[in-house]
Amino acid sequence: MTNRTSSVRNICLLGCGGFIGSHLAERILADTDWHVFGIDRNPAKISAFLTNPKFTYANIDIDSAEAVDEYLNRSDTVVSLVALCNPSLYNTVPLQVIDSNFTRPLKIVERCAALRKRLVHFSTCEVYGTTISYRAGMPFNSTTDIFREESTPLVLGPISAQRWTYACAKQLLERAIFAHGKENGLDYTIVRPFNFIGPRMDFLPGIDGEGVPRVLACFMDALLSHKPLKLVDGGRNRRTFTAITDAIDALMAILAQPKNSSRRIFNIGNPANEISIAGLAKIMIDLYSELRPECADVSFCTQTVSSMEFYGPGYEDSDRRVPDISLAKKLLGWSPSVCLTDALRVAIGFYIKEYSGALACREVV
Ligand code: NAD
Ligand code: UDP
Repeated sequence: MTNRTSSVRNICLLGCGGFIGSHLAERILADTDWHVFGIDRNPAKISAFLTNPKFTYANIDIDSAEAVDEYLNRSDTVVSLVALCNPSLYNTVPLQVIDSNFTRPLKIVERCAALRKRLVHFSTCEVYGTTISYRAGMPFNSTTDIFREESTPLVLGPISAQRWTYACAKQLLERAIFAHGKENGLDYTIVRPFNFIGPRMDFLPGIDGEGVPRVLACFMDALLSHKPLKLVDGGRNRRTFTAITDAIDALMAILAQPKNSSRRIFNIGNPANEISIAGLAKIMIDLYSELRPECADVSFCTQTVSSMEFYGPGYEDSDRRVPDISLAKKLLGWSPSVCLTDALRVAIGFYIKEYSGALACREVV
């Protein structure tokens, strides 16, 4: 992809050092002549680009209004990825979650409206909450329970279920963005990602981060340490996983086609990759064993844990999240093509290469 069809010249990536940001920066630097202003408090995942002349890195907090404004001013397009987006935080540090997913990024939205910058904002598939049928105690309905951007109601749990702080903060920000579009002429696109997976996702606890990462890294930590893979509530809930390469294709289509994506919300996900978390664990055990024949004598297993035990009080889960992606297909000409097994093979290969040495040292110590 080039920038021939797009008006992008200078792009500001807020949260550039995260999982999605690092992949987006990598693709933009490889495939376009755009200049990237990358803002993040942590440069570990983008160290490979720091010397690229088309990349300018700023180690600042998005709260540093003056410093951020400098980069917004120099950009025509702003991609806002900054968030605390790890479910283990939603019910344990809910005020920080609301702050990082609503209060702080709202200032970015306001600045983009005032400076007349195009904003591509990362929301989440979690704004949909649970399926309507699940809340009503009914079985999944393959017509009404598929998530559609322009018609599906957003179904969150009670206030005491603090799990929904993240979804609620993201939803309110979507509403603020929509209102800025209507009232202040903000040119925006909202992206709702459906469980992107790939290299550089999250961290391994005790190696390059602390706490509980998202499920891919949790399971990789278990596999690499020969511990049981923990299935929250038996792993009965389901997700649709999307290869990060497919996701980045969609983002590049959004960036390259401002007219088709302006004032739109897009589900970005791969409905063909839906699986239960128990099913995910099984595939990951099989792939890991295939990729590490030297572990042939290890018998990997799963262990059921309650959500109360794993996340603590206030956790509730989304039952299923299946996206309708017809809008992205029609307006962007985008479709995902990577199956779950291939996406997982690439991701697992990355973790093996990246972390085996560090884990071996941890065992020796
Ligand atoms: P991530 O945690 O890997 O990246 C977020 C980045 O933001 C981190 O590098 C962090 O250092 C940075 N950051 C946080 N607060 C900051 C601040 N105040 N100032 C500067 N930098 C700050 O997350 P990700 O998976 O790359 O997700 C990116 C976006 O996509 C988030 O908005 C998230 O809610 C959304 N999202 C992602 C997924 C997914 O599948 N990965 C799913 C749903 C939604
Ligand atoms: N999960 C699990 N074991 C783990 C980590 C997560 O069973 O070690 C479950 C979690 O309860 C949820 C699903 O995996 O049902 C996906 O969790 P993740 O943290 O990746 O993010 P979510 O999709 O909930 O935002």
